[in-house]
This record gives sequence, structure tokens and C-alpha cells, in this order.
Amino acid sequence: MSESNDSRPDIYIGLVGAAGTDLKSVLRELKSQLLVVGYTVEHIKVSELIKAAVGIPDLADENERIKHHMKAGDLIRSNSANGGGVAALAMQAIVSTRGKTTKGKSRAFVIDSFKHPDEIELFDRVYVRNYYTMSVHLPRITRQKNLEIQIAKDQHQPPDPEMAMLAKQIITDDEKSQGDKAQNVRDAFPKADFFVNGKSDLPQQIKRFVEIVFAEPFVTPTLDEYGMFMAKGAGYRSADLSRQVGATIIDQNGSLIGTGCNEAPYPGGGFYVDGHSDGIDDNRDYVKQIDPNAAEIQSTFIEIVGILREAGHIGDTKKDKRGDVELVDDLLQGDLKHLARNARIRSLIEFGRVVHAEMHAICDAAAAGKAVRDSSLYCTTFPCHLCAKHIMASGIAEVVYIEPYPKSLTAKLYSDEIEFADERRETGNNTGQRRLVFRPFHGVSPILFQRAFRQKKRKDSRGILALWDPTMAEPTDASRTVERPRLETTAVNSVVRVLKKAKAKYDSWSEESIDEEG
Ligand SMILES: [Zn+2]
Repeated sequence: MSESNDSRPDIYIGLVGAAGTDLKSVLRELKSQLLVVGYTVEHIKVSELIKAAVGIPDLADENERIKHHMKAGDLIRSNSANGGGVAALAMQAIVSTRGKTTKGKSRAFVIDSFKHPDEIELFDRVYVRNYYTMSVHLPRITRQKNLEIQIAKDQHQPPDPEMAMLAKQIITDDEKSQGDKAQNVRDAFPKADFFVNGKSDLPQQIKRFVEIVFAEPFVTPTLDEYGMFMAKGAGYRSADLSRQVGATIIDQNGSLIGTGCNEAPYPGGGFYVDGHSDGIDDNRDYVKQIDPNAAEIQSTFIEIVGILREAGHIGDTKKDKRGDVELVDDLLQGDLKHLARNARIRSLIEFGRVVHAEMHAICDAAAAGKAVRDSSLYCTTFPCHLCAKHIMASGIAEVVYIEPYPKSLTAKLYSDEIEFADERRETGNNTGQRRLVFRPFHGVSPILFQRAFRQKKRKDSRGILALWDPTMAEPTDASRTVERPRLETTAVNSVVRVLKKAKAKYDSWSEESIDEEG
């Protein structure tokens, strides 16, 4: 039995939202829904902590303000162990808030907000099952508009094209700036336990999240959550060298009719799995000990360099083939790497032996004679352009995805044939023409799925339904104390040293940037 209701475990919720996302209304909703279970929200505002920590001046201009905060955050991260500096700063605030509040109070610390996957990782490690990441999704076009309005308001001017450009730049930098520890919302976002649709009924979504965290026994998965969980499960079957991707197809009746992961195909259907016993040796890439895609990119590059040399465009006396091989080696992974860092040749994907998860799922349904027309495809990663055209041709109606895939040219190559459900609603550009619809995933992520929907006590021995008392409910699997207090202490203790370095660098950057503008 639980003790009295005033000794329930603290929980920690890290918010993630791309630039221009309104996290205030999510915070407001969290406050009111957590009050239902008797928890008080302690708001940890990261941008204010950063501002105070490195001494960012009051800046009236929204664009300048964002630029300074991004830079300061990047510096704190890059001057800390494993990029956890900003997260450690938030922990410092948590520790000091904990000291000030009355004992016995049930608290939810809401961290507003995280901008890098390393921050989520540190919170995961320290607070373990008391910690949740909540990512809030808004269409790009809405976020850009929000930023434009904010910039205009700060400048006391009506919005103009220049402000639109600024807003666009802020959004691009926020998604992923240059550098390993630079702000990277694009990679932080998919780490969520729970995805909120910022354009839809917030109270209902947050209420459900709180019920799930506090083990309401009758919350069950939506079809989307089930489809994505199964897709994630399928992805775990892959031994691919670069990433694990999973996909499922669910028909209009809600039946799962195909699954797949990115893996080398197997004669007779499907892909190599452990335990095939009809004679063919395991031929997965890891067994062959080579990534054929990388090898083919390399030889394509060597071929191009050879042609340029032949044409006299490479003014080097080295005539032998080895010269070209070495040059390409230097460009791809050696001294000259920086020159070819963003070269498109690196993004070629067609030389892989593996069949992608989405195509495997379509093949899986085909092999079993199941029609995929008008069904939904769930994939853990946004489809590449090769998969997208097959998904379209197969008659699948919509694609639901979690992670972005920057190499994908889908949106560019099929701009007339596909549409993004959230942006269509926003622009009102519904021409009524048939298109393949892409929809970002919302709800309980595959990471949280088992914990969220594992059976709770639902009846007593006489068959009477269990009552869920929100004021007594405990967060699922939560620990009563900080799970790894030593890690929390280490992180907090590192803050002073990290800030000293970051502040010095911020000051000189700040001076330079003022000089440039003056
Ligand atoms: Zn693909």
C-alpha cells in the first residue's frame, strides 16, 4: 500500500519544441492537469537560467535574443562533459527548488525546454523512470508565422519580408546548427516519450498523458500508438550497420497486414533472420563485413576524380590511380573531410543491399496476398524518396512517421503528389485532389508504450472494478528518491567550472558580434 498521499515521488518532464512552438499553453495545461492528481508544477525555465548564468543582456529584439541564447547554450554544452551542461544547469535549479519547498509536497519539475539529445540523455540517466520527455509538434509554417509576429511586435512594425527571412533562418538554426554540441532540436524531438499535437485539443491530450503516468487502469493504445509500437518492434529485427528502421501497414479495418525492417532480402521472401535453416549462409552486411553503399560511394567518387584528372582539371602531376584513391579517401574521411562534409555524393542511398523497412512491409503484405490499397503505413523514420514512390504506387493512403530523414528527397521530388496533413490544414490549400498524405506521429511513443499500457489492477477478487483515485495515484514505476543521486551531484558540481569557460567565450563572441553590427 502507498503511504499517505503527501509522500509521492517527484516526477520530471522535459519539454521539447522547435523554434516558434507555443510551449506556454502546454505548460499551463500541465499545471492544471497535474493539479488533478495533487501535484504542483515547478517551472524550470532554461532560457532564463542560461541568461543569468552567462550574463546575456536584456535584448528587445526577438531575433537578437534568440541568437544570443542559442550561442550561450551551445557554449555551455560544448564546454561540458558529454554535452550535458545545460541539463546540469537545470538540475542545479531543481536541487535548489527542492531545498526551498515544503517537505511532503508532491512535485512535477517541468523543464522548459531541451534543445539537444545529450540533455535528454542526462535526465534519463539521473531520474530514470521518474523522467519523461514531451515533444510538442507544430507545423513549420505555423511556427514561422508565430516568430514573424513576435519579431514584428518587438520592433513595433508591421511584419515585412525581411522579418519572414529572419524567422526562416531562426527555424533552420534551431533545427540543427553547426557543430556536435550545437542546438539540435531535430535530433532531440524524436526522443520523446509522448508527442503532443500543438494544433489539436491540448487539454484532452495532456489529461491522457497524466492519466498514463499515474497508472489509470483503463487507458488503452490508439491505433496509431499500436501501429508505431509494432513498427519499432519490427525495426529491432534489423542488423543494419547504420540504423534500425521499422515499418508496419495497418488496413482500414485496423488489421496489421505487413511488417518490415531495413535488412538484406532473403530468397523466397522476407529477410535474413537468426535461425534460417534451409541452407543459405547468413549473408547480412555485418557478416560480409562491409557496407556496400559506402564502398560504392567511394568508387563513384574515385571515378569522377579520374575523369576530371583525365580532362586536365586536376592540376596534379600524380598520374597513378593511387593518387585518386588517396584524394577521395582524404575527402571522405581524412584531412579534407571538411570540404566534402555536406557533399550530396555522401547521401546516395541506392547501393545498399538492404531493402528498406517500408518496402519490406509492402512486400510482406504482397507475399501473403493482402491488398495494401487505402491502408496506413507506420514508419519509425520518414521515408526516403525510393520508398516514397513505391508507397505511392502501391495505393497506400497515408504515412505516419516519427524521426526526420534529412537525406530524403521525397518532399522535393514528389511535391505535387504528396501533402503534409498538418500544413494542408494550415494553408487551407485543399484542392480536393488525391495525394499521398504524410502525418507526424502523436501520442505515446514506442519507448513509453509498455510502461503506459501494461496491465494495472483492474478489479478486486469479487470482480468489482478498481477505482482510480487521482489524489492517491502514484506515478508508474517511479522511485521515491532521485534514482542516481551521485550523478545528479556530479552534474550540479560541474556547473561552476563549465560556466566559467562558457562565459569567457560568450563575452568575447558578444563583443565581436556587436563590433560587426556597429
Ligand atoms: Zn527507404
